[in-house]
Amino acid sequence: SADVAMYHAKNYGRNNYQFYSRELGSKASEYIMLGASIRQALKNAEFELFYQPQVDLMSGSIVGAEALLRWRNPQLGVVMPDRFIKVAEESGLIVEIGEWVLREACNALVSLNNNRGEQSPLSMAVNLSSRQFLYNDLLASVKQILAETGCKPEWLKLEITESLLLEDSQEIINTLSAFKEMGITISIDDFCTGYSAMSYLGQFPISQVKIDRSFVRDIAAKQDKLELITAIIRIAHALRLELVAEGVESKQQANLLKIQGCTIAQGYFFGKPMRLRHLELILADGQNLMQ
Ligand code: C2E
Ligand code: MG
Ligand code: MG
Ligand code: MG
Repeated sequence: SADVAMYHAKNYGRNNYQFYSRELGSKASEYIMLGASIRQALKNAEFELFYQPQVDLMSGSIVGAEALLRWRNPQLGVVMPDRFIKVAEESGLIVEIGEWVLREACNALVSLNNNRGEQSPLSMAVNLSSRQFLYNDLLASVKQILAETGCKPEWLKLEITESLLLEDSQEIINTLSAFKEMGITISIDDFCTGYSAMSYLGQFPISQVKIDRSFVRDIAAKQDKLELITAIIRIAHALRLELVAEGVESKQQANLLKIQGCTIAQGYFFGKPMRLRHLELILADGQNLMQ
């Protein structure tokens, strides 16, 4: 297995790989196996997108969805993104996977919006890895996919992480500005879990923040947690940022967020990530999810 590790050390360009394989044993072999399998996964069409509804807290209606990647592998079963995105990033495969995700999500969105008649169009949030900004011409590839699928830029939300902004790169800021000028919403995912100061955000071409679910978890049980999220909501408003609450699991949490001025929320209370077909059924149902 040391030979296998060396072989992959060359392929992945990580010369400390053999060290990892000795220290971590099975962790390393899982890592190697995942890397090799991900290469095949795109070819074998093993990736699938699930969609989690985003709900307007005032009307209780679905206003959009977040696309979340799933990998169904014959040997490994369903692999969740937390287990394979990092491997895909380190091997560079995330660029190709990311393009697949974007194309698939845009196609789904166009089909959803074609069926909406007079109702206002839904939005679709797509997660981007920082590596997608660094490894290729992301702007060109997004433009190409929008043109190809007929997806309007106004319908698309691109989720980035605070760490991307910490790269402090003019090129990245230019790309984000170009997205914003096209009408695409840039959203900061897992907001407040990184190291960036909130005041700093005003300098970037960002229109939305998603408060991480760790800030939502205890708001119904602990007064100090409620006060904290209320403060975050106020600051977001002051910075003219739209705010999405993640990980809403109860009606009580949803109501508290609504009272504090949060407009959009996402979480198991409204719906788990689901297949497109299931989302279509829920949309057709048209239920008020706040009732
Ligand atoms: P994220 O973008 O912050 O996505 C939210 C995660 O929280 C999802 O996990 C979702 O299933 C989960 N979640 C949603 N509501 C609730 C809730 O009420 N309670 C709890 N406990 N969890 C909830 P998932 O699908 O496993 O994705 C994990 C992470 O993987 C995502 O976090 C995102 O960072 C990354 N990811 C997913 N799809 C992609 C993708 O296509 N590209 C990239 N680069 N990253 C992706
Ligand atoms: Mg996200
Ligand atoms: Mg998140
Ligand atoms: Mg995340």
